[in-house]
Amino acid sequence: MTTSKLTIDLRSDTVTRPSVEMRGRMHKAVTGDDVFAEDPEINELQNKCAEMFGMEDGLFCPSGTMTNQIAIAVHTSPGEEVICDKLSHIYNYEGGGIARLSGASVRLLNGDLGRFSATDVRSNVNPLDSHYAKTSLVSLEDTCNKGGGSIWDLSELNEVSRVSRELGLATHLDGARLWNALVARGIHNDAEALHAYGANFDSMSLCLSKGLGCPVGSVLVGSKSFIAQAHRARKVFGGGMRQAGIVAAAGLYALENNIDRLEIDHSRAKRLGAAALHHPSVISHAPIDTNIVILKLKKGVDSDALSSEWGRNGIECFQFGPSSIRFVTHLDNTDDQVDGACHYLSNI
Ligand SMILES: *Cc1c(COP(=O)(O)O)cnc(C)c1O
Repeated sequence: MTTSKLTIDLRSDTVTRPSVEMRGRMHKAVTGDDVFAEDPEINELQNKCAEMFGMEDGLFCPSGTMTNQIAIAVHTSPGEEVICDKLSHIYNYEGGGIARLSGASVRLLNGDLGRFSATDVRSNVNPLDSHYAKTSLVSLEDTCNKGGGSIWDLSELNEVSRVSRELGLATHLDGARLWNALVARGIHNDAEALHAYGANFDSMSLCLSKGLGCPVGSVLVGSKSFIAQAHRARKVFGGGMRQAGIVAAAGLYALENNIDRLEIDHSRAKRLGAAALHHPSVISHAPIDTNIVILKLKKGVDSDALSSEWGRNGIECFQFGPSSIRFVTHLDNTDDQVDGACHYLSNI
């Protein structure tokens, strides 16, 4: 066994630290009180994100959990129901926020790596009868984190949106890693395609602190009236910030500099997945659409023990359930680190 002195952190794309250039942009930020909508950096960031997807307005918030939960609170009333996949972040990883903050119930769909069909939506909308919770929102996740960074087939996504609206439901996108999905589809620089994508949703949550490498921040986009209501909900949830342009500036830097390069993260993820298949404890990996690799381990291999062993050998990663390990690539990885990890995984 080789002991690599190299350490690569593949636990999550949230571990990135703001680069010198990003910090430089933050240093120059002009700020103002954002609760009064007077922070020029935040206003510019909100407008840029909204315009990118053909939306009217945007709202800068501290986290993706907050942008998702605000959207759910605005789209639903207590006692109503949200349709989402069983793997969705809004259901699994937001502290039960849907029940706690919006008083809404959830109808979980049994999709394919987080993706579902228009037929699934149709057959899970409750009848308009006082016995049932009123279904009011459909939430999609692209890429789906727990689905291994899976991306939606665009025609399927369009159809889900069309049918949801036909049924009178609002549509929300958890786009924590939307830019990864757009780069994987090759449409991230195609303004028309981005507008067509955005037209599927009444609201979209976009994270700056994942693949884009910002220290903090998410933007919620939607119509003027949706964002006006979201502004109120943000205040209620305690997310109204003051001179936060200092962090919004990092977002502006990231939109200009860190989107195209996501392709590098995707190709590194594919290389790591292929190398891991040579490891005696690994049977397979889930399809690698973007920057997440989910390795399935052989029967009897303890994922906790194996991820710790890899950690001691310089590959920091997370166990992802009893028989899986997850890698997430990001902009703080280097080619040397990826080479070292591939060498370790395939030569053990
Ligand atoms: C990370 C993530 C979020 C939001 O997370 P925060 O840590 O609250 O910013 C939302 N959805 C998905 C799919 C995520 O991966």
